[in-house]
Amino acid sequence: MPGNLALLERWAGEPRIATVRPEPLPEWGIVGAAVGFANRGDFRSWMRLRQGTPWRVDADPDSPIARDLRDTCTAERDVLRQYLLAIINREVTQDLISLWRRRASSLVLTPHFSFAAGQLRVSYLHRAGELFDLPPNCAISYALLLLMDTKRTYGRDLCLCRFKSCGKFFFVVRPPRGRPQRKYCKREHMLLAHAANAAERVRRSRLNRKRAQTRRRS
Ligand SMILES: [Zn+2]
Repeated sequence: MPGNLALLERWAGEPRIATVRPEPLPEWGIVGAAVGFANRGDFRSWMRLRQGTPWRVDADPDSPIARDLRDTCTAERDVLRQYLLAIINREVTQDLISLWRRRASSLVLTPHFSFAAGQLRVSYLHRAGELFDLPPNCAISYALLLLMDTKRTYGRDLCLCRFKSCGKFFFVVRPPRGRPQRKYCKREHMLLAHAANAAERVRRSRLNRKRAQTRRRS
């Protein structure tokens, strides 16, 4: 059974998802929302990516729909983090690209027109044309393809904070002077990581000294 039908059947009698005002996401907005979702794993940004609108789920937290959505959201985030790491480490295979290409192709784009000061602007609302049992969903696949495209700078600029307790993905910070910052998402994490490394060096050198003393005594 196609994913959409299976999910609809499971959620029958649970029509309690409310859509909030739809807003078109520009290309960088889709990439930014995907990276933000990988960092926070929050339900709201996942729904925003999935359906193009920040949906609200009013269902009982123990209902099948709420459980399904929660599980899918967690699985989607775990897989997305693996993919973002693969992009940073340049380990993306052709098979993955094909999967993302196929999934992204099921996005449904609807034009959204704005007209201000004599200027027409067209942007696109995107929503999932098909729901899949396994991640990644179509909007996340689109974000991953945008990150892989060498004509765009998103992928080249993607970094992972090296401060162990952080693990946040971010885009390279280019200060007005000095080198671009790719290692840490913020200065505070650089200082904390340096302090942790210094403490680790002290601990290791103490351990080595102790071992040397024990060897001399025996
Ligand atoms: Zn950080």
